[in-house]
Amino acid sequence: MKPPDVITLTPGKRVLFLTKDPDLIRQQLKGEVDLQMKDLRIEDLLDDVNTDAMTPAWVCFNHRPEDLAREAYAGLIVDGKRLFERDALIDGNFEAIVSGFRKGVGSSRETAVQAEKWGGIRIAVAASFAPIHAGNNINQGVLMADHAVLERLQAGEGVPLPEFYDKYDPITRLIVRHGGLFPLAKALDAGQLELPLPETPPRPMTMGEKILARHVVGGVAEKTFVKPGDAVVVNVDGGYTHEFTTAQVHYFLAQEYGSDYEIRNPHKFAVFEDHLIYADEVPKMRAFMDKIQILRDLQRDFQRHTGCRDFSAKDGVSPGICHEVAREYIIDPGDFIQATDSHTCMGGVNNSLAWGVGTTEYANLVHSGFTQVEVPESIRFELTGSLASNVTAKDLMLFILLQYAKPQLTLNRIMEFTGPGVGQLSMDERATLANMATECAARTAIVEADEKTFAWIASVRPEIDVDSLRSRAVTADPGAIYGGGIHTIDMATIRPMVAHPGDPDKGIPSDPTNGAWIDEIGEVKIDIAYGGSCTAGKIDDLLFYHQVAKEAVDAGLKVADDVRFYIQFGSLAVQEFCRDNGLIDTFERAGAIVLHPGCGACIGCGPGVSEESDEVTVSAINRNYKGRSGPGKLWLASPLSVAASAFRGYISAYTPGMFRDQMVLK
Ligand code: SF4
Repeated sequence: MKPPDVITLTPGKRVLFLTKDPDLIRQQLKGEVDLQMKDLRIEDLLDDVNTDAMTPAWVCFNHRPEDLAREAYAGLIVDGKRLFERDALIDGNFEAIVSGFRKGVGSSRETAVQAEKWGGIRIAVAASFAPIHAGNNINQGVLMADHAVLERLQAGEGVPLPEFYDKYDPITRLIVRHGGLFPLAKALDAGQLELPLPETPPRPMTMGEKILARHVVGGVAEKTFVKPGDAVVVNVDGGYTHEFTTAQVHYFLAQEYGSDYEIRNPHKFAVFEDHLIYADEVPKMRAFMDKIQILRDLQRDFQRHTGCRDFSAKDGVSPGICHEVAREYIIDPGDFIQATDSHTCMGGVNNSLAWGVGTTEYANLVHSGFTQVEVPESIRFELTGSLASNVTAKDLMLFILLQYAKPQLTLNRIMEFTGPGVGQLSMDERATLANMATECAARTAIVEADEKTFAWIASVRPEIDVDSLRSRAVTADPGAIYGGGIHTIDMATIRPMVAHPGDPDKGIPSDPTNGAWIDEIGEVKIDIAYGGSCTAGKIDDLLFYHQVAKEAVDAGLKVADDVRFYIQFGSLAVQEFCRDNGLIDTFERAGAIVLHPGCGACIGCGPGVSEESDEVTVSAINRNYKGRSGPGKLWLASPLSVAASAFRGYISAYTPGMFRDQMVLK
């Protein structure tokens, strides 16, 4: 609904303050007290209200926003109990919700905003908002304000609508003025407004800027230029959803455009069954299997309804993790790709620009074929030298997370990977670089293309015209401007690394930026070693696991006592490669547990999750946020280190020949 020109609080509606004092929240929910901002300090309010607290993963098994709202803030637990019981937000009759700094940190899930909005909230008040969460508020038509504006509203003042959007780019202003992304799209469809074209004069551009410039709706190829901060409407070349998100897209489109809605270019978009495919193998997930089945069924309905590309499971086996399969079969150099998952950035390995979006944004872009973007800044990494024989691209990314992401140099920027070092890396290793851009809080990553890029795409898609791939690839212009700077990394200086799990109870968050050199962490015993996920389930990753497993098996060793070593393929193509080349045989002889392709333990939904808080896992996945893969402590490491640790029983770097001294003579 379009907001009025002047915003006022509605008589009879209430304002909920998320205070650091949980009793005060309880009293407000029970209707015993109504607070005024003028009587509070910002320090009294909760900071870092995270999206997992607003809608924990189990709540996200609901696809209807009405149902999400019933469980709003189910993850806010005090003394082991929910602070917000079911329906508490709805029953409280609130229209504004107030917190401190950094509202909406954590995962990018849009359900957090939906739970508030369908719980009655139309104004979110905070000292600052996490950028993706802010974008989700804007797309959903939820107004954002600071505490000074709230004081004026509570004093009975009307606040002009422009005060809620003045600071945004011109297209975002239009979204706020129209009450969200869908109303704006409908106004555009009806020809009620025209979008501005960028007026940026010719300038040298980065790879990301070039791709966006080529996709500007109404722009002219090679004659349209963009710069960071420009608001542009761009054509989208392709995208995908998975069973965690498709149902919402289907639901939103039917609600907005009727049950006979159509999407613009169905052959360019796809659905995947990968995230929840093995959930029934995790005891804690069994209670949600009915809801998960509804999500699967609705995804199939969506696929049949739209005719988009179908990567559903067959006989209970997934064709693979969406990002791995997408780079194999969907993404070309120069493409602009959008999908409903934060690791969409992995597509940057194919020299495309790809990033994750919320379900509202995705529903809108599959319907219209275009989306709106504020051009991000870029940061350039020039890689030189070669990695040591026991170091992988994962170690390089853990180093970049520590050195560049932790001090926020990569924040919301496009990470460009260039330089002679790129040529030393296989396409699978380059994919690891692109994949973990989201852990760097970057907008995405893009890797410079070379003949290896084209040859790899042609190897998985033999029908492709390599000359056309070559002509679509982008390189940065000399003199292009990098807001995040240009950084040279000599890959030969990188040693095997981990990211430690921190100590959240003592205020040290579990975070992929917690980098440490393995040779400096002492002896950390493990219970689980997990090799898989979109980051580490590629052919080269499997070759890394195999390199170590083969040495161990040849030395007569098996996986260490009391350690469970799981190996999961990123896609069916990877599984076939491993079967045909004898890798699976070695893994099984080593005592590893080999799993079909899919996400699984990485998202806490498959074999390999920890079950107890004192269990220790070393994992090749991309993030170690608390609870991500069970309640235990999760260390991130490279595929080589994960495999070496599985045989040693404690976190270890791999060194060629490391098991010779343990050789078991038969
Ligand atoms: S493997 Fe993990 S990080 Fe990758 S898409 Fe699946 S759940 Fe997300």
